[in-house]
Amino acid sequence: MTDHNPALENLLTETRAFAPSEEFAAAANAKGDLYAHAEADRLEFWAEQARRHLTWDTPFTEVLDFSGAPTARWFADGRLNAAYNAVDRHVEAGNGDRTAILFEGEPGDTRTLTYADLQREVSKAANALESLGVATGDRVAIYLPMIPEAVIAMLACARIGAAHSVVFGGFSAEALYSRIIDADATAVITADGGYRRGKPSALKPAVDDALAKGETNVKHVLVVRRTEQDVAWTEGRDVWWHDALGEASAEHAPVAVEAEHPLFILYTSGTTGKPKGILHTTGGYLTQAAYTHWNVFDLKPETDVYWCTADVGWVTGHSYITYGPLINGATQVLYEGTPDTPHQGRWWEIVEKYGVTILYTAPTAIRTCMKWGDDVPAKFDLSSLRLLGSVGEPINPEAWMWYRRVIGGDKAPIVDTWWQTETGAIMISPLPGVTATKPGSAQVPLPGVSVSIWDDAGEAVGPGGGGYLVLDQPWPSMLRGIWGDEQRFSDTYWSRFPGTYFAGDGAKYDADGDIWLLGRVDDVMNISGHRLSTTEIESALVSHEWVAEAAVVGASDDTTGQAVVAFVILRGDAKEKTDEVGEGADVVAALRNHVASEIGPIAKPRSILVVAELPKTRSGKIMRRLLRDVAENRQVGDVTTLADSSVMDLISSGMKGSS
Ligand code: ATP
Ligand code: MG
Repeated sequence: MTDHNPALENLLTETRAFAPSEEFAAAANAKGDLYAHAEADRLEFWAEQARRHLTWDTPFTEVLDFSGAPTARWFADGRLNAAYNAVDRHVEAGNGDRTAILFEGEPGDTRTLTYADLQREVSKAANALESLGVATGDRVAIYLPMIPEAVIAMLACARIGAAHSVVFGGFSAEALYSRIIDADATAVITADGGYRRGKPSALKPAVDDALAKGETNVKHVLVVRRTEQDVAWTEGRDVWWHDALGEASAEHAPVAVEAEHPLFILYTSGTTGKPKGILHTTGGYLTQAAYTHWNVFDLKPETDVYWCTADVGWVTGHSYITYGPLINGATQVLYEGTPDTPHQGRWWEIVEKYGVTILYTAPTAIRTCMKWGDDVPAKFDLSSLRLLGSVGEPINPEAWMWYRRVIGGDKAPIVDTWWQTETGAIMISPLPGVTATKPGSAQVPLPGVSVSIWDDAGEAVGPGGGGYLVLDQPWPSMLRGIWGDEQRFSDTYWSRFPGTYFAGDGAKYDADGDIWLLGRVDDVMNISGHRLSTTEIESALVSHEWVAEAAVVGASDDTTGQAVVAFVILRGDAKEKTDEVGEGADVVAALRNHVASEIGPIAKPRSILVVAELPKTRSGKIMRRLLRDVAENRQVGDVTTLADSSVMDLISSGMKGSS
């Protein structure tokens, strides 16, 4: 890589923009003056948000202490309880009858929990945990399907001041074991199983295997009964959830903890390497989770039905299922299963059934629905939707347009939200009702958040420039470290530009000064001395009517240094159209020419492979490092966080066949 070459080249241009409607703007929670207000006094702005969105047992007087940088302390002399804020205070305010959770199991079973129900269940679970010896300051591993108990378990831990470490239910015993050891958990909360793709899928055996792998400090395993599968039982260690809660009192006094008390540890997705145990604390994290949920999703607690499709095993499920929405008193849908069980319209059926008004999902899901075709959502009434969100990867402009047109009825604003496990909450996003949205761009830092794009030398670039995305001011929900590894914390985030947080992502400003995320800087390609982003070439491919998804990598090339290699998935309805142009070779030629005309000959892929699936992490992100291995004819690297490892075999053999 040429280190003095200042920035990424800007390739794609986007001219479409969608101003908010007058009605939306008039009723929106966020008004345009929020920016100026935050700008005037950033710390005072955050203090106001902390008071406005949270109830404190002991009010804070300090706002930020960054003397121990890079570890920040926010609102440090205040005390509060997360579960009290998410549940009890709504009941105390007379809203105990409001629905908190509309649960839809994959087999079609349903449950409705009001805030009063949640208060009772969370209190019982907190008492049960305490009677099993879990105390303030301990860590509890949670390994559950997407059922209400996942949320209840998290809040029960928070209620007693024990940090939770939620491990995605699709992970293996090995992954669970390493996370139990790393966090030194003393209890595990799991289930017999959950429903996945139309059948019960066991969870408890993985916990048994994990705990058999070596010495741990786990004293008890609390087991929710969901599928009624047979489970092996370790007497003295294993306890049924319903037995423990059945005996427990429904009264529990929440423990008011210091604002900097650990709330949870959560391991990153592992898209770029070994997962990191990200530590979040209480006061600052909850402030920003609630503030962003309120303003970015424009939540109207009395009338909205909110649905975030993430799994609670990811940070999105933490901030935008458990904490943000419940703190704001939302009514939300919780769905257990996959989008295509029993049919590809399941999500849209759920939107229609519950009258979902706000939907928050990921580009991978949107592109998959695009692949399945417009006629699937067309069978359902989606007119209740008034706001759409996206998170997890850059959303290609064409996928954004599809989301707006087919799902949002050409009227619902889309918020493309950029953030990370490490940032705890949304950092960059349009504000609905304020920002004129642009397909493919996350656009602007939220009021109170400071973002910059720097070149190699650490100089800020201006409109039209590109480089490294940095967060140059502390924010309340910032990570407080990598659990047990201070060195890795400073090396990973604070060493590329000493003293400034580097997110690992490339970004550019367009001529209007809006921010575009360009993918991981590790994925940036250098073609004949030009630094190109994977995201832009992928978006050019997805802008072709035949293409639903694309992944691009740079493969070493004798003449150009690196060459663009693309992997594409065609849309369901593209089959007939591609038949018109003939066989595979013509499809590839057409797509290569399309990229050349969209962004220039320099970006033209050396090869394009049409594939049925792409390698993705369990959280749905494309793992380009594996595709690079294939493109360079190497042994494929670590696939443990891959959702389906057989995908790589198919792609590798396709690559050999094509060359
Ligand atoms: P690891 O850090 O272990 O490699 P990960 O980065 O995939 O895993 P997450 O914290 O879940 O784990 O993902 C954060 C990353 O997701 C961001 O750094 C960014 O690359 C990408 N991302 C999230 N939202 C957006 C968005 N709206 N636009 C573009 N990229 C996004
Ligand atoms: Mg990351």
